[in-house]
Amino acid sequence: MGVDATRVWDSSSFCGGDLAVDFVNTVSGVGIRRVRERLEVYGDLLGWAVAAGTLEPDLRDALAAQAAGDAAAAAAALARALSFREAVFAALDTIRAGGAVPAGPLPLINDMLTDALAHRRLIDRGGRVVWHWLPEPSLDRPLWPVAQAAAALLTDGPVGRLRMCEAADCGWVSLDTTKNRSRRWCDMAVCGNRAKAARHYRRRRSR
Ligand SMILES: [Zn+2]
Repeated sequence: MGVDATRVWDSSSFCGGDLAVDFVNTVSGVGIRRVRERLEVYGDLLGWAVAAGTLEPDLRDALAAQAAGDAAAAAAALARALSFREAVFAALDTIRAGGAVPAGPLPLINDMLTDALAHRRLIDRGGRVVWHWLPEPSLDRPLWPVAQAAAALLTDGPVGRLRMCEAADCGWVSLDTTKNRSRRWCDMAVCGNRAKAARHYRRRRSR
């Protein structure tokens, strides 16, 4: 398994409205047999975290070098990322569908959160106390901010606003922040326009 990552993460990759939701959306089409995995190699995880603004390029380079030097460790870290992602998705999706917070995914989320919080510190930055991630070259580092975001979302977040994109082959989740709760698509520029084009095509065909 390589660590090269040339994948492009654009604004539609971050349309979920929350870091944990965006992380869940690194795969699409789950459950509808059109799975499109965007975390195929460990380097994809690094690229995503840099694009998300949660990993500094310097640390990304250090982690990429570490992963290149230990392919088995990088593969294990990627596997942990995918299991963690599934746990976050399971928790969010159950809540979205109106169910109670499920106990099943919580241990995995807790494990990642425990690891994350061990590397979180309060520091002084120009007279202000702020949260800071210790710059430790752990291969799980891209997941720590996600674990923290997932915990915040599950406990205090607007989970009642979780929606699944209406496009049949998408499966992305997002937080509906529209005033009248009218969000139908993950991203208007992606699935919204595709749906519009499909409607247009059907109209033309039925003439
Ligand atoms: Zn969509």
